[in-house]
Amino acid sequence: MSDLRLVGGTVVCLDAARRILLNGEVGCSAGRIDYVGPARPEAAGSIVDCRGKALLPGLVNAHTHAAMTLLRSYADDMPLQPWLETRIWPVEAHLRPEDVYWGTQLAALEMVRAGVTCFHDMYWHAPEASRAGLEAGLRVAPSGVLIGLLPTSDAMLSEAIDFVDACLAAPHPRRHVRFGPHAPYTVPDAYLEKVIAAAAERHVPVHIHLAETAKEIHDSIAAHGEPTVRHMHRVGLFEVTTCAAHCVHLEPDELELLAAKQVGVLASHTSNLKLGCGIIALPDLLAAGAVVGLGTDGTASNNNLDILEEARLAALLHKGVRRDATLVTAWEALELATWRGAQAIGLPDLGRLTVGYRADLIAVDLSAPHLCPGTNVVSDLVYAAQASDVTDMYVGGAPVMRDRQILTLDQPAVLAKAREAAQRLIRLAAS
Ligand SMILES: [Zn+2]
Repeated sequence: MSDLRLVGGTVVCLDAARRILLNGEVGCSAGRIDYVGPARPEAAGSIVDCRGKALLPGLVNAHTHAAMTLLRSYADDMPLQPWLETRIWPVEAHLRPEDVYWGTQLAALEMVRAGVTCFHDMYWHAPEASRAGLEAGLRVAPSGVLIGLLPTSDAMLSEAIDFVDACLAAPHPRRHVRFGPHAPYTVPDAYLEKVIAAAAERHVPVHIHLAETAKEIHDSIAAHGEPTVRHMHRVGLFEVTTCAAHCVHLEPDELELLAAKQVGVLASHTSNLKLGCGIIALPDLLAAGAVVGLGTDGTASNNNLDILEEARLAALLHKGVRRDATLVTAWEALELATWRGAQAIGLPDLGRLTVGYRADLIAVDLSAPHLCPGTNVVSDLVYAAQASDVTDMYVGGAPVMRDRQILTLDQPAVLAKAREAAQRLIRLAAS
């Protein structure tokens, strides 16, 4: 019998058959799902009454920089390059490990409340981001950001390798370490080749930004005679598991290449809209069989960590832009936020309520007026639900939030520390 039993809810399995079970049950033991089916009458195990709620896999934030919560709403309404160069990087120059810790805990608070159980992160002081996420009870895929243009670049790579090796030597069931070369325009080919070699040797995926802006493509053609994705292929990036944020500007052959190489494409619609970068060809990527997930990007370019909102935007945006209401259905949007996103970050046993999958799941209260009359739970979740409807969260079978009470974090303390850290950083950047 299962250790933990979530009984009586509407179970949205997100499995291949797209099953929805009314009065269903999900059982978990040893961090994995061990039962999905009708509610069982036995009284054994720890039983959680989920009547009136939807049970679904935890949402996956496939691309973020969690600690950038400290820079939420700090620099808005600017294009990417001046935004990075004149606003973000000068603040980040003052980041201390403890800033990243509190920024990531703040992000964790927000993500737990929004039903995000797993975040694929790239940021400075990755060991602190990882620690903060694990202490919050979340599943973390951390990577230290690597820039190849600085005097300290070689030291950064050594540190990243040490962090990866330390993680591999002492595995944690909720930590999935990655390498994080920032982007082709900040990581020259020779440096990227070293990262690829380190990743290949350790069978560790690479998390990178690709083809985010038209300028990036223009510069790649000027420097290498080919656009970004084609160039990355020639450099050998796709010979290792690659998880690529953005992929907004793709030639048709590049789109096919990403699908053929099963590169994880981490669509970040809000960030791309806000920074004026463009709109990813999501319907074409899905039609080509690409592996796609949804990311918020950092809150400095979003400005929240709400994956349900990203799912809704993915479902709406392409319908409007292409004047085709059949594109990116509610089902597809919810899959992008769960199992497709998990696949896109290299975690194929996550994101479905299926026996043997990791026991990361959330409950959503269906009793609010905006979810009534409740005739189509998937449409309700994508088009009508709010992050605040999430009531419960379990990660690896362990409770993180019950009845909207977060069990792992001291919210007032985290908010106070995050405010203090943000104020210090902004003061230093201004001086
Ligand atoms: Zn990003």
